[in-house]
Amino acid sequence: MNGYESPWKNDELRILADAAARFFEREFVPHTEKWLEQGKIDRDAWNKAGDAGLLLTDIPVEYGGAGGDYRHETVVMEEMHKAGVVGFGAQVHSTIVAPYLLHYGTEDQRRHWLPKMASGDVVGAIAMTEPNTGSDLQAIRTTAVRDGDDYIINGSKTYITNGQHADLVIVVVKTDPNARAKGVSLVLVDSRAPGFERGRNLKKMGQKAADTSELFFSDCRVPATNLVGDEEGKGFYQLMQQLPQERLSIAQSAVVCTERALAITTDYVKDRKAFGQSIMDFQNTKFRLAECATEATIGRTFVDQLVERHLKGELDAASASMAKYWCTDKQCEIIDACLQLHGGAGYMDEYEISRLYTDARVQKIYGGTNEIMKELISRTL
Ligand SMILES: Cc1cc2nc3c(=O)[nH]c(=O)nc-3n(C[C@H](O)[C@H](O)[C@H](O)COP(=O)(O)OP(=O)(O)OC[C@H]3O[C@@H](n4cnc5c(N)ncnc54)[C@H](O)[C@@H]3O)c2cc1C
Repeated sequence: MNGYESPWKNDELRILADAAARFFEREFVPHTEKWLEQGKIDRDAWNKAGDAGLLLTDIPVEYGGAGGDYRHETVVMEEMHKAGVVGFGAQVHSTIVAPYLLHYGTEDQRRHWLPKMASGDVVGAIAMTEPNTGSDLQAIRTTAVRDGDDYIINGSKTYITNGQHADLVIVVVKTDPNARAKGVSLVLVDSRAPGFERGRNLKKMGQKAADTSELFFSDCRVPATNLVGDEEGKGFYQLMQQLPQERLSIAQSAVVCTERALAITTDYVKDRKAFGQSIMDFQNTKFRLAECATEATIGRTFVDQLVERHLKGELDAASASMAKYWCTDKQCEIIDACLQLHGGAGYMDEYEISRLYTDARVQKIYGGTNEIMKELISRTL
């Protein structure tokens, strides 16, 4: 959007944005092809990001974070997407996993894990989805059964972001298999725990440098003190409290990627010629890009408004769901239109629009599918 800047930005955040942009350009972008090939980023990229102060930016300094707030997380995520970096699961690590520890973890858990996550020594993941259930989270089958001072975890998870690199997994389990929501708890699993095993790094249509894995728990033994919070059965509540932030973050990433697609497409159509004129000069191109720019602007202003509400503690679940479904639907529609304006080049891997297209598709699926978002919104009507 020409000349527009998010109203919540200030000088400090501009400096952070500048530092993050330079970091990603220098340390990550040169490895893009290699990371796409190997299906994951290099492990030391996490430590480099930690050293640069780009992890856990909204976690208090006493726990090793940068002491910022949600805007700092947003700025890092935006610069990552602007640089075309895909595969660095910092949104999961910093924006999703760390807040569970901060808000619900015990003091021991916070002091043990958060500084290591901030430095990149520990990579975090969260495992909700199972082979037999995703949307219906209350129907998960992975169990954690108390055995003396331990929990014994059995079950399997799938499609887990950061699964290959994760040192710490927040596992969504049933501590009471006979209950639905009230039987759900969150338990921390150290990847060195006996009985924990990583499965395949799954091959995907897009986001190919992001590791997405199966995880298995076979009589996996962890101390009972690894329960997140002081009481069993609180997991579903904890998830419902934190999912709006995750969904807002997905909506924001959708907007950044949409803006990126529009920028590269505008350059492309101005340059490319057909029938003696530039593609941009066709009325179809101008009108289609005008429509896309309008919708991208609507998305941008909506998510910016939600960021401001979130900072005041006023982000409600329905609004976050609206942003998640609408912005990701629009991301896919607009990037499709941008790809069409590239002609055959749009289908070629060497053009960025091709990757933006395949990377976008999953945005309508994870973080709760867009159908589930509409279900949640409808309940508030
Ligand atoms: C790349 C990637 C990364 C992921 N990362 C993670 C992660 O880090 N951690 C994690 O736990 N999960 C992760 N997931 C899993 C993701 O959150 C789930 O795939 C998603 O929630 C949908 O669950 P499902 O795949 O079981 O689909 P299903 O629940 O089987 O849904 C199938 C279809 O039915 C529809 N549907 C289901 N219920 C309803 C309903 N009530 N009303 C209308 N329609 C309905 C869905 O919208 C969908 O279209 C990831 C997935 C992918 C692809």
